[in-house]
Amino acid sequence: MAPRNAAPKLVIIMVGLPARGKSYIVRKLSRYLNWLQYDTRVFNAGERRRTAAHVEGRGDKAKEESRLGRGQFSSSAAFFDPANPDLVSARDQIALETLDELLDWLSGRDSSSIGILDATNSTPKRRQRVLSHIRKRLGSLDWVIFFESCCFDHDILERNFRLKLNGPDYRSQDPNEALRDFRQRVAFYEKSYVPLGKAEEQEKIPYLQVIDVGRKINTHLIQGFLSNQVVEYMLNFNLSERQIWIFCGGESIDDSVGRIGRRSDLTASGQQYAASLVRFIQEERKRWEESRRNRGLEDHRQAKPRSTHEEVTLGSHADNKSPQPLDFCIWTSTMPQTIQTASGFGDEFFAKSQMKMLDDLNAGDMAGLTFEEIAALHPAVYAARKQHKLQYRWPGLGGECYLDLIHRLRPIILELERRKDHMLLVTHRAVVRVLLSYFLDLRRDDLAEMTIPKNWGFSLKPTPYGIDFSAYSYRPESSTFYLEPDARSRFFPS
Ligand code: ADP
Ligand code: PEP
Repeated sequence: MAPRNAAPKLVIIMVGLPARGKSYIVRKLSRYLNWLQYDTRVFNAGERRRTAAHVEGRGDKAKEESRLGRGQFSSSAAFFDPANPDLVSARDQIALETLDELLDWLSGRDSSSIGILDATNSTPKRRQRVLSHIRKRLGSLDWVIFFESCCFDHDILERNFRLKLNGPDYRSQDPNEALRDFRQRVAFYEKSYVPLGKAEEQEKIPYLQVIDVGRKINTHLIQGFLSNQVVEYMLNFNLSERQIWIFCGGESIDDSVGRIGRRSDLTASGQQYAASLVRFIQEERKRWEESRRNRGLEDHRQAKPRSTHEEVTLGSHADNKSPQPLDFCIWTSTMPQTIQTASGFGDEFFAKSQMKMLDDLNAGDMAGLTFEEIAALHPAVYAARKQHKLQYRWPGLGGECYLDLIHRLRPIILELERRKDHMLLVTHRAVVRVLLSYFLDLRRDDLAEMTIPKNWGFSLKPTPYGIDFSAYSYRPESSTFYLEPDARSRFFPS
């Protein structure tokens, strides 16, 4: 039994046939949970199998010494035949060793932490072995949930099967042969597969089951705080191809003299930036449509003039309600500098909303001062903030720190994950830092110190393997935005 005052922990045991998006989901989920400041790590059985296969393949001393030196570890379909008890037991062994690694890691942590076992665990027998192993090691199953991804959608599955050909088991093999082998592997799994359900319910094991990327979600006995965060995230999950742009507002009068945290109008150069941003996004939108047309894809967000102004609020289901789906949503903060930056986007193609959640970091009593003034007038505040930028909350009514900002922006992230529209967020530098730290999976200590060069904007495109990231710098002399090469490695090493 876990001590009553111990930090909550969670062990997530993934379940599901191959190519159901398990690894994709857990990568995203761990990025989200780490961003929320819960230490989260994924432990992958397939990787361990590949390492074992590699050790065996070398046939040297390492093989004799390896704890995994039995069976024939391989990526070919035959290795996954459920009728061969030796191979089933070799795979179970790998899964349990991966689980041990997870439990060792989790036991060594003082703070709230989450360990995720990424394996198929597709039979009741395997799941029983996993549970009794956890019970033996932790003394109870208090921290455990199962999480299954099921998929019955033929088109998604076919696409996923093909994506597997670029994965570590098949890369550099003949694609036809690889596809045939992978189909055989899935067929072997299907022979012994039993989805989560009756057995887990009889034994009162909590589980989450996501069907067809969220078309349907089943939960069973999900009660803990951490597991509820997981469920909430999965309720907002989609795989649509789209683009999220994140820009700072143009230069404000306060910016031009270094004053922080206040509502302020744009300067003339801020207005020029705003006009350039409108042109840039219009061109990018046209490029996107062209590229989809060239690929023969009908865009469900096809640009159609909108007749009336439509308020888009958080939690609205614009896709389901509106007969003419929106093409592009723009969210600004409620501060004049960002509202004015987006004012040139016409209402006929762009659905605009103002969000308080996107307001600048609240500087409390320091709002309206420059950093030099803070250092001179409030040296203790200046020093404390410099030393602990992440946790230091500005003094005075409403003053915030970066950790507060993460919590303020949590619903924004969930909404960005839920929506299928292209999005443009026009906000403030501190907010951009926090949003990018989520998308780029940045370490906690890098968050507050991250350099956001002045007048840069960012594009994020979710892909089957992660996120395509691009950065654009604004050049006032030509009023244009330029693609910055290698921006990720130059500015945001993870
Ligand atoms: P698995 O780990 O189950 O073998 P992968 O994580 O390699 O599968 O997923 C393959 C692809 O499945 C991903 O690249 C992604 O596009 C897609 N995918 C992601 N989530 C889901 C889901 N919930 N259901 C079906 N497919 C998904
Ligand atoms: C694997 O070996 O890729 C794997 C996921 O293992 P298992 O099916 O044994 O969980």
